[in-house]
Amino acid sequence: MTTCGRGLRRALGASPRPTWRRALSDTRGRLKPEYDAVVVGAGHNGLVAAAYLQRFGVNTAVFERRHVIGGAAVTEEIIPGFKFSRASYLLSLLRPQIYSELELKKHGLRLHLRNPYSFTPMLEESAGGKVPRSLLLGTDMAENQKQIAQFSRKDAQAFPKYEAFMDRLALAIDPLLDSAPVDLEAFQRGSLLQRLKMLSTLKPLWQAGCILGAQLPRYHQVLTAPAAKVLDQWFESEPLKATLATDAVIGTMTDPYIPGSGYVLLHHVMGNLEGIRGAWGYVQGGMGALSDAIASSATAHGVSIFTKKTVAKVQVSSGGRVQGVVLQDGSEVRSKVVLSNASPQITFLKLTPQEWLPEEFVARITQLDTKSPVTKINVAVNRLPDFLAAPNTPRGQPLPHHQCSIHLNCEDTLLVHQAFEDALDGLPSKRPLIELCIPSSLDPTLAPPGCHVVSIFTQYTPYTLAGGKAWDEQQRNAYADRVFDCIEAYAPGFKGSVVGRDILTPPDLERVFGLPGGVSSYRTGGSRHSFPSLSLHLHSLTCPDVPTWLYLGPPHPALGRKRGQGQRPQQREDRDRVSCRQWGRREEM
Ligand SMILES: Cc1cc2nc3c(=O)[nH]c(=O)nc-3n(C[C@H](O)[C@H](O)[C@H](O)COP(=O)(O)OP(=O)(O)OC[C@H]3O[C@@H](n4cnc5c(N)ncnc54)[C@H](O)[C@@H]3O)c2cc1C
Repeated sequence: MTTCGRGLRRALGASPRPTWRRALSDTRGRLKPEYDAVVVGAGHNGLVAAAYLQRFGVNTAVFERRHVIGGAAVTEEIIPGFKFSRASYLLSLLRPQIYSELELKKHGLRLHLRNPYSFTPMLEESAGGKVPRSLLLGTDMAENQKQIAQFSRKDAQAFPKYEAFMDRLALAIDPLLDSAPVDLEAFQRGSLLQRLKMLSTLKPLWQAGCILGAQLPRYHQVLTAPAAKVLDQWFESEPLKATLATDAVIGTMTDPYIPGSGYVLLHHVMGNLEGIRGAWGYVQGGMGALSDAIASSATAHGVSIFTKKTVAKVQVSSGGRVQGVVLQDGSEVRSKVVLSNASPQITFLKLTPQEWLPEEFVARITQLDTKSPVTKINVAVNRLPDFLAAPNTPRGQPLPHHQCSIHLNCEDTLLVHQAFEDALDGLPSKRPLIELCIPSSLDPTLAPPGCHVVSIFTQYTPYTLAGGKAWDEQQRNAYADRVFDCIEAYAPGFKGSVVGRDILTPPDLERVFGLPGGVSSYRTGGSRHSFPSLSLHLHSLTCPDVPTWLYLGPPHPALGRKRGQGQRPQQREDRDRVSCRQWGRREEM
């Protein structure tokens, strides 16, 4: 970090004074006319970038459009007394080094790990007074096998082998998240020296290949084939296959029969929480508490964060130098470096003066399809859902399955496929795919005593309805009622327990969170510019064809010289920490 810090400081002409000293003398909250760096947007990734920059001695300000920080990782009390992770709700892909280097625990981050983590109740006639079956999965393999054996003994035997197979793939891919992406363009168009240098970026890929070894062709299939095909090779029972298949389609306008859905099966085993591979958990206080912890770490080192400050434009001089930003209220803030946490569309089509971007690149951003099929419904209830397949205790206390991702309309892969097909015709699914979570079952700070917050992630809902119609209040409510009817079938009494609800269709997600198309993962519309969404690592957002991070600044030996678009900082340490692309100058300095 030290070498990197020096490089960045030199590049930006920033003061070598220790950041903690500067933090003390800064008046936080008061807008200054100039900063070393400006970050557009206080989503958790923008906050992480700001925190690291400041630790390197780069005096950084963050400007957020909304009244609250966090972007899609936010907690909002939409219904009095009930705190919702209003968009994103489960944490896993937080890179462990960010957790420790930004001292997030010290800054208040508390996690609730979930075990068991997945519950799929069946809708079946109960014969002889028996409750319907359900599939409960957790970290205890023997218990998982017992659960699966209810549906297929063969699958129960295959499951540990499948998990080991996927674990190996996750193990191979995990280090790639922390390495600089391979710059294919430099390979194709760079000088011989540049190409040779680029070879070093292939090392992590080579290492991943070594881990996968002779099984590489089978793993290649996971990354490219339809999830249903991958799962059919392992299992025969539908409840297990459909439960696993939800991981392959979650947040995405795709279905398990579409090629490429297989690789998202990895989400099941990727990630890491408190050293446990594949664990997904709740953040105490909701997802906004994660953003708050990052912000606290950042401000402790001197970052200034401003809310209700929309950036309207990045200013670039006639010579192509970035000069800062203009806020919507007309104020100008000077800065030699601007990083954007906003979407690629906002960053490159709205904020950046178009004359500094190659036409071909602008065309590619314009064509990005980030339309999401997700409608998120946040619900306040006055008692826990009581599932036919796992009845509540008389006192209604949380049971193990309440802490899980509860998969509804998921007992058969064809159900998922049918839900997808409905949406292709511009109709919200008749039986939507539902992932229901009750974070208050582990975190009582979220709701009044005895009450709960229920997070309902549903798909498929087209961004634009059949006939080009936009969503209106009636359609929004009709869809939510349909989702509630589905839940009621699995857990009678649910509808009667509802105290309030917040319905966010794709256009609502776009409006509230500034996510074009309502995107919930950068893998939509059949195209694949994907990296795990909440990875909290800058590299994961600089995928080769869609740089969501924008660096507009002066060329400097420490940051690398550039010619045209897309060259990265040359200095290894800088590149590792601040993976950003340089745009804005056409001539070599
Ligand atoms: C409904 C939903 C559920 C999800 N669930 C999960 C989940 O459970 N787990 C998971 O890992 N991922 C989940 N995701 C994905 C994840 O939340 C996002 O990928 C992640 O939050 C993106 O973070 P970010 O910081 O990169 O961007 P964002 O969170 O989008 O932050 C960008 C910020 O920039 C601000 N901004 C935009 N334009 C301007 C401007 N001109 N001026 C100033 N500020 C501006 C925005 O207001 C916003 O605060 C979910 C996403 C959605 C939509």
